[in-house]
Amino acid sequence: MGLALPALILPGEALAAVTGARLERNADGTRLILEADSATSWRLSATQRPMRLIVSLPGVTWRGPARLPGLGPARGARWDAPNRRLLIDLSGPVSVRNAATVDGRLVVELGPGTAPGFARLTQGRIAQGQMGGTATARTPARSLPVIVIDPGHGGKDPGTIGVGGTHEKRITLAAALELKKQLEAAGRCRVVLTRSRDVFIPLDGRVDIARRREATLFMSLHADSAPGARGASVYTLADRASDALSARLAQSQNRADAAGGLRIPDVSPEVQRILYSLVRQETKVGSARMARFVVSNLGQSVTLLPNTHRQASFAVLKAPDVPSVLVEMGFLSDRRDEAALNRAPYRAQVARALTGAVHGWLEQHHAGVANSG
Ligand SMILES: [Zn+2]
Repeated sequence: MGLALPALILPGEALAAVTGARLERNADGTRLILEADSATSWRLSATQRPMRLIVSLPGVTWRGPARLPGLGPARGARWDAPNRRLLIDLSGPVSVRNAATVDGRLVVELGPGTAPGFARLTQGRIAQGQMGGTATARTPARSLPVIVIDPGHGGKDPGTIGVGGTHEKRITLAAALELKKQLEAAGRCRVVLTRSRDVFIPLDGRVDIARRREATLFMSLHADSAPGARGASVYTLADRASDALSARLAQSQNRADAAGGLRIPDVSPEVQRILYSLVRQETKVGSARMARFVVSNLGQSVTLLPNTHRQASFAVLKAPDVPSVLVEMGFLSDRRDEAALNRAPYRAQVARALTGAVHGWLEQHHAGVANSG
């Protein structure tokens, strides 16, 4: 519903008063704070033309300043008395990092945004809740999407051991920590690692983390062995492998896990259901799209394996509702790949490419969500 209807107040209903309203700077964005003297409901929405955030406060009289001076992306704000709403005019797209009642006050945290991301905000209400008085109910805003990064292997499972003796589990962890740092610095998503230490985590445990954290995207990092192969590649799930190399990689990874002490039939029925359920079509489409972003971003700075996007039956990619890719950053069985992956600047280069891929994917994902209403 795109129309803004005037709010209805029942006769005799007591109005709360907004007693304070201000825009202030926070760490890397702008924050709106509203205070009311008694309990009242609020709703946050956005419009594209004019580009605006709107806080609807159907039950209040306004005793705050008539106008708030502009700050950051907010060109200014004013109270629209007939419709009982605060209009915040924007100079460009913003993201809403959080909108919630904190200690009785409504706090809306704004950050830099993209046009597709903002378009998504205009598709409905962003958040709503109660503020003022003793009411503490809160509805969290659509907060930043969660990306789960999975450093392959770990603990008693070293992964591949390179020609020069490099343990794969060390390379995957170092690369994942670097990628996390870069993604967090950009501030467009939250990052969860399946492991941040040298510990063994079974494959289904990794899938389970992605599902429990309601991940938008799952990315597993590896640097396995494949005789004669060199360069980075990316894998998505398929029942049948696209080629012999992919089949071998999936087989050896799935087997390494069984040797690590967990057999799939032993896991909980819930996880079994997850592992064995059919991969939904949209998850497949999202995974394939991510693979394309990975290939195009990596291709600008890193040597690629020919036919860079491949498919195989990797257990770690089997979350039915989380688009998932597995990135082989290179092969430790190749001396040049092994030397490169042992260098921090090279891993940073790979992480930059993967960060670009995540951002590209997120933008298209948001646009897709907005288009589908
Ligand atoms: Zn591996």
